[in-house]
Amino acid sequence: MANTEKRADSPAGSTEEVPVLIVGGSLVGLTTAMLLASHGIRSLAVERHAGTAIHPRAGHFQIRTIEILRQMGLEAEVRQRSRETYDPEGGIIAVESLAGKEIARFIPNLNIGVDGRSPTGRIFIDQDVLEPMLRRRAEALGATLRYRSEVTSFEQDADGVRAIVRDLENGEESEVRAKYMVAADGNRSRVRQALGIEKQGYGVLSNSVTIYFEADCAPYLQGRNSGVFYVTNPMLRGFFRLNLAGQRGFLAINSVGEDVTRDEAVNVSTGMTEERALELLRAAIGVPDLSMRIRQIIPWEAEAAVASRFQSGRVFLAGDAAHVVPPNGGFGGNTGVQDAHNLAWKLAMVLKGEAGPGLLETYDSERQPVGAFTVDQAYVRYATRVVPERGTDGVKPYVDDLIIEIGYQYRSSAIAADGPAEEPLFMHPDELQGRPGSRAPHVVLRRGSELISTLDLFGRHFVVLSGTDAREWREGTEDAVKALGVPIDFWQIGAGGLVDVYERFPEAYGLAPGGAVLVRPDGFVAWRAAPDEPPSALTKTLSSILSRT
Ligand SMILES: Cc1cc2nc3c(=O)[nH]c(=O)nc-3n(C[C@H](O)[C@H](O)[C@H](O)COP(=O)(O)OP(=O)(O)OC[C@H]3O[C@@H](n4cnc5c(N)ncnc54)[C@H](O)[C@@H]3O)c2cc1C
Repeated sequence: MANTEKRADSPAGSTEEVPVLIVGGSLVGLTTAMLLASHGIRSLAVERHAGTAIHPRAGHFQIRTIEILRQMGLEAEVRQRSRETYDPEGGIIAVESLAGKEIARFIPNLNIGVDGRSPTGRIFIDQDVLEPMLRRRAEALGATLRYRSEVTSFEQDADGVRAIVRDLENGEESEVRAKYMVAADGNRSRVRQALGIEKQGYGVLSNSVTIYFEADCAPYLQGRNSGVFYVTNPMLRGFFRLNLAGQRGFLAINSVGEDVTRDEAVNVSTGMTEERALELLRAAIGVPDLSMRIRQIIPWEAEAAVASRFQSGRVFLAGDAAHVVPPNGGFGGNTGVQDAHNLAWKLAMVLKGEAGPGLLETYDSERQPVGAFTVDQAYVRYATRVVPERGTDGVKPYVDDLIIEIGYQYRSSAIAADGPAEEPLFMHPDELQGRPGSRAPHVVLRRGSELISTLDLFGRHFVVLSGTDAREWREGTEDAVKALGVPIDFWQIGAGGLVDVYERFPEAYGLAPGGAVLVRPDGFVAWRAAPDEPPSALTKTLSSILSRT
């Protein structure tokens, strides 16, 4: 793929103009297209494959991802499809084999500790089931998805990006001109390579394989409802994901043999044959004569690394192109969905002329540190769950999933911070209390006869939430709308506004009487007005957040 310094060859075919070109149409490309479309921005996602994912891969979706899907009206459908394959109370346990001894319960129930902190929860759903839903919603909202096509080269200048797209059916090439390009082209991102952006981290951990199979494992599940079974025995280390009936699923293998400190142990895919796969599968199920059918064996590299930067000019890296993690912890796809969520509203506001291009630089300053932290935490889980014998040198302390999911804080010019600068980037969500830069907390509200969450108020525009003393904040919001020409929603919580059912709003958002909070379209707190701050400060603060100078 040509880099930004080279000119992409001119094709004979037509030229197409689109505000945003997305390279890759898998989990993160589709999410980006869907979210951009929800903000009224047209995009073209170009995907090499003939359609959405054909392998389950990601299965463990975190609270923040489901909150985003809820905003897009997909939560109910996702839950329903999830129940067809997984138990909503499923967990993550470790066994010697399915039929053998249980070693540990890493997570007894996927949603332990989530209660009261979100209007939704974690869900197991396979990526190949989720992607068609994202695709349908993206297309319904106006995104264009082009399959069996690939971006072969691109260049950028001060006005935009010019890319060459090849139709893989007939070999024809055409030119696409876009204002911005999002590289959601996966771990081996050729866009990232063309931009010369380095990856940093722990490198390739193993040459793993995933064995997709059918076998009657039901008798060995022993009533356990787990979504993920880690397997550790002298033959192999890896994990199962099985359907509810225990008839079909996959076994991902990260190492073979007893001595995982040997390099050969993590070279699982070398010399892998169907016979060897059957042997390993039998050892993992723990029933030597069980009849089974292997559907497919897919080699893949488990890697833990993050790109040194997520932006180069008008090109942004998202998803596995920006960070790649071993599947332990289930962070990869989730972090990518959150990249897309952070980027989509920023691109939309800049493209609509509502924000200055400086806003886009905050994508890197906000998401790169989260990517780096997540890579560390996935590595902790790989090191301690899969290869503990390799020791803990260079392994960071374990941080709880809930903190990784909804406890991170952004620091950038798109946040008017009011806390100490030296505060850690990750904290328990209960301690964050609506700090600028953190995810706006969930509080139960009543609107008419309907119970909703504060999170249901976010997604499209900036939102001002004020407490009982709201008149001046309502006027301040109207003034800011007029001055900046940007839509801002206003909600009063309590005293005649939305009902604060459990009277938690002021405490959850750390608001003093008469205060207000400004929440970004991605549901992160942008600003919390100090008690003596006048509502007129809103215009100036938002103008700075939007890089409107
Ligand atoms: C066994 C396994 C289990 C996993 N479990 C979980 C889990 O439980 N939870 C979780 O969150 N994550 C999990 N993951 C990780 C998750 O699958 C990935 O993080 C996710 O797929 C990344 O999505 P992406 O869109 O960024 O990249 P990809 O899924 O890699 O998609 C990139 C797409 O770009 C296309 N492409 C590349 N170059 C071009 C080009 N030049 N032109 C056009 N198209 C191009 C490719 O064809 C591909 O479809 C798991 C992964 C594995 C292997």
